[in-house]
Amino acid sequence: MRVFNDDKWLNESLSFVREKRDIASKKLDNWEQLRELASNIKAHTITHLDNYLEEFEAKALANGIKVHWAVDAKEHNQIVESILKKHNAKKIVKSKSMLTEECELNPYLENRGYEVIDTDLGERIVQLAKQRPSHIVLPAIHLKKEQVATIFNEQNSDATYLTNVARAQLREHFESSDVAITGVNFAVASEGAFVVCTNEGNADLGTSLANVHIAVMGIEKIIPNMQDLGVFLTLLARSATGQDITTYSSIFKKPSKGKEIHLIIVDNGRSQMLGSEKFEGALKCIRCGACMNTCPVFRRVGGHEYNYVIPGPIGSNLGSSRNIEKYGKLAFASTLCGSCTAVCPVKINLHEQLVAYRGVYKLNVKESKDRYYKLTAKILAKPKIYRSLMKLAKYMPHWLYKRAWGKERVAPKLAKKSFKDYYESL
Ligand code: SF4
Repeated sequence: MRVFNDDKWLNESLSFVREKRDIASKKLDNWEQLRELASNIKAHTITHLDNYLEEFEAKALANGIKVHWAVDAKEHNQIVESILKKHNAKKIVKSKSMLTEECELNPYLENRGYEVIDTDLGERIVQLAKQRPSHIVLPAIHLKKEQVATIFNEQNSDATYLTNVARAQLREHFESSDVAITGVNFAVASEGAFVVCTNEGNADLGTSLANVHIAVMGIEKIIPNMQDLGVFLTLLARSATGQDITTYSSIFKKPSKGKEIHLIIVDNGRSQMLGSEKFEGALKCIRCGACMNTCPVFRRVGGHEYNYVIPGPIGSNLGSSRNIEKYGKLAFASTLCGSCTAVCPVKINLHEQLVAYRGVYKLNVKESKDRYYKLTAKILAKPKIYRSLMKLAKYMPHWLYKRAWGKERVAPKLAKKSFKDYYESL
């Protein structure tokens, strides 16, 4: 199903979430100290990652958790499949995990005959709409309730009614699944335990009912101890949605009797960022989504226009670190206003990284792109030509607009008068 984003709606929805974040953060007198502390904890952990990962693994194994290591997405998917095969599992309930999106686990399993049900409401909506999440915390934020009703084949677009429809459908899937897959928000090295945060309790229900729990985490999810966990839980919910605490923050330490917990620790390019003075900081990210909610570009274009799995300022950085040729142009999708850096709970210098990636991209840019920039420079240097072209802009055909950053959006209407004409008429 093709659903087009409405810029105005998206901007208003995300601004609302951003405002909630501002209100929640101002309720704490020590908000800035907490950000500083969280940033320092992450910086320390990243520079001692090998030690903390080893400590975590040893403790997790002692707790009875089966730990697996995956160097890349392919190995991650193969490990998941091998566990499913071992348990003769065919149906999986999955709670939200951007890592499984990154590894394209759903198509991998579906192509091999497994049934995968996303159980986070927003994820379920985009799964039924055959879309990818447009936001890391609010996967269906781009959709209006009327569009959701269409996706569920329902006439009634009342949000509570639709939630109940989804809940009834999902409960049947929860009860008939063999395995539950979850992401991981934090892995506590001193305990060998990991934490999964959801607002819907779907991870808890899935893992309670299924006999096998597969949890997946990137290597950067490690934090040293439980004291640090308090810092991150305080920052995460407030930064993500303006809540005081995520509704369900569950700590998984050991499997219940007769059950299994598997934990897959994934690198998939993350270790390449270690040791880079300019770019290593992106590994501090706790995936709260605040940088997206505040970004004036993201709020207008939505997450689907970014060609990397994680959109917005942090996605542009992570994508560029992975493949500068493929994702480097995302670094230009920023006004460099610095709002992302200002809200980031772990103080990643996001906009400075974007500037740095622009430089790396320019060094690697293809000749065809270079020609485009040279042509643009020539036009901008000739005001008469520039103004004439701007006058013609309102006649730009829709298909041309849709080629660039417009594939999933309703094209905005251009003003009848240019700003310059308007200004001169005053
Ligand atoms: S970069 Fe910062 S603001 Fe953006 S998602 Fe990560 S932690 Fe949140």
